[in-house]
Amino acid sequence: NAPLPDQLEQLKWPADGLLPLIVQHAVSGKVLMQGFANSEAVASTLQSGRVTFFSRSKNRLWTKGESSGHFLQLQSLSCDCDRDSLLALALPDGPTCHVGTETCWHDQTSNAPALSFLTDLEAVIASRQHADPKSSYTASLFARGVKRIAQKVGEEGVESALAAMAGDREELKNEAADLIFHLLVLLRSQDLALNDVIDILKARHQQ
Ligand code: AMP
Ligand code: ZN
Ligand code: ZN
Ligand code: ZN
Repeated sequence: NAPLPDQLEQLKWPADGLLPLIVQHAVSGKVLMQGFANSEAVASTLQSGRVTFFSRSKNRLWTKGESSGHFLQLQSLSCDCDRDSLLALALPDGPTCHVGTETCWHDQTSNAPALSFLTDLEAVIASRQHADPKSSYTASLFARGVKRIAQKVGEEGVESALAAMAGDREELKNEAADLIFHLLVLLRSQDLALNDVIDILKARHQQ
């Protein structure tokens, strides 16, 4: 939901002309970085589709990724309730922090939103897709092909159902974990991601 030009007119610019601009990963919800934007940076972000800041250290417009190639592809730009803070949802082309980490908040395991672990897991699964089958269980699943992966999804689904029927919540948690893991492997084997499934859920919700 990129703000309309008239909404931009209504931003509450402070005396120094800079508003905080927070960048959040459009799929995982991880906060990637924070910088400042002047009105030119906002216009440039909307026009180019790449998140652009006003860099206080460089004292000029700065398109994140201009030298590293790690651009932040804009998905939406919005402001908060009192129009003095900006939020960009973006898809990063590479690590966002200049030290090479995914986000500027490096201690990701403790700071990342809980559900973003699913996207981390998807990345690990994808990295195993063409790996040596002897190197990992996930790689061996891919090597055995879609039939074996689909069978595991079926098994883990049944085991989850049986655990719930038995009222065994501990068992249900474990079987549901197995189910989600194998479902992510199945989706990956068909070139799909959890976000493709979420798109369907969202579309149904809107009906
Ligand atoms: P880039 O925009 O990725 O080409 O990086 C250009 C320069 O901007 C880097 O050498 C850093 O000095 C600085 N920089 C890049 N990423 C960040 C960041 N996430 N936070 C602060 N400074 C950054
Ligand atoms: Zn505010
Ligand atoms: Zn950083
Ligand atoms: Zn199981």
